[in-house]
Amino acid sequence: MTNVINITKESGIPLIGLAFIGIIARNSNNLIQVRTTTLCNMNCQFCSTDAGIISKFHKTQYIVDLEYMLEYLRELANYFDKDLKIHIDSVGEPTAYPKLINLIKGIRKIKNYKDISMVTNGTLLTKEKIKELEEAGLTRINLSIHSLNILKSQELFGSTIYNIKKIIDTIKEIKKTKIDIYLAPVYIPNVNENDVDDIIELAKELDCKIIIQKYEHHKYGRKIKIKEPTYFNFYNKLKELEKKHNIKLRYAYSELETEKVKSLPVKFKKNEKVSVEIKAPGWFENQSIAVSRNRALTIINHKYNKNENMKVRILSTKDNVYLTEPVKQ
Ligand code: SF4
Repeated sequence: MTNVINITKESGIPLIGLAFIGIIARNSNNLIQVRTTTLCNMNCQFCSTDAGIISKFHKTQYIVDLEYMLEYLRELANYFDKDLKIHIDSVGEPTAYPKLINLIKGIRKIKNYKDISMVTNGTLLTKEKIKELEEAGLTRINLSIHSLNILKSQELFGSTIYNIKKIIDTIKEIKKTKIDIYLAPVYIPNVNENDVDDIIELAKELDCKIIIQKYEHHKYGRKIKIKEPTYFNFYNKLKELEKKHNIKLRYAYSELETEKVKSLPVKFKKNEKVSVEIKAPGWFENQSIAVSRNRALTIINHKYNKNENMKVRILSTKDNVYLTEPVKQ
């Protein structure tokens, strides 16, 4: 049975420091990633994070309290004091977060946040929900879509309730609003090559932008048995598709419209030994979530033991995400 942990202010777990939940403010750019839940209603064959209903690695899931998240976002806005963008991307499905509309409304009230985008598989969106998202102030949706074929799309999403006809209606509904929409297929060689052609044509027909993503093997993700394409081959494929369909598919970094901002202070040094307090089980079974210096840290190779105090060694601090291991006594 899945254990769902509510991350509230009272839980004592800071929202900065973990890769899979909370907030990621990558060094020096003004795009803030917001991850409110690890839950997902699909089970994609190629999910890079092994999210979804039948997960091999994750027996614990997380959901962040709305007010706690907004409190952090207000503090970040004051710290950066610049125009910021929010991307609700979650390692799960953002629309599975029950307070999504209130989250967007709350972010809209914070003056620095200009754009609010979201990635979604689209399955939980209804006509009413799309209207609510527009009124709340969502500016963009990246919609994952990998085939227009009924059975193939169900296979790729790992779910017989996935309904591509409904998804196409959903795209049409979004097009009636002020929300910008990008179709976001994952290109998987020998699996959905022709499907990507169909999706490009759909994007043209419905006047949507399209961003094709490269399929990648991830150590703890679900994998499709194919040879992973190289970036060289992938970009050549995009070039070929651009020519074939007369459409723009490659975007330069500058076109992503992020700006440089000052970094968040990094609270630890690599290899430093730090005293921490254990707060919750980690996303993987042999991991725990600990706290120190107002940051959350993941301890690998550690069996969860509530309120234990221990010493860990910092393995990585990249992007203010802290990975540690126990210090052997
Ligand atoms: S919809 Fe996204 S998060 Fe959910 S299983 Fe598929 S790839 Fe993973």
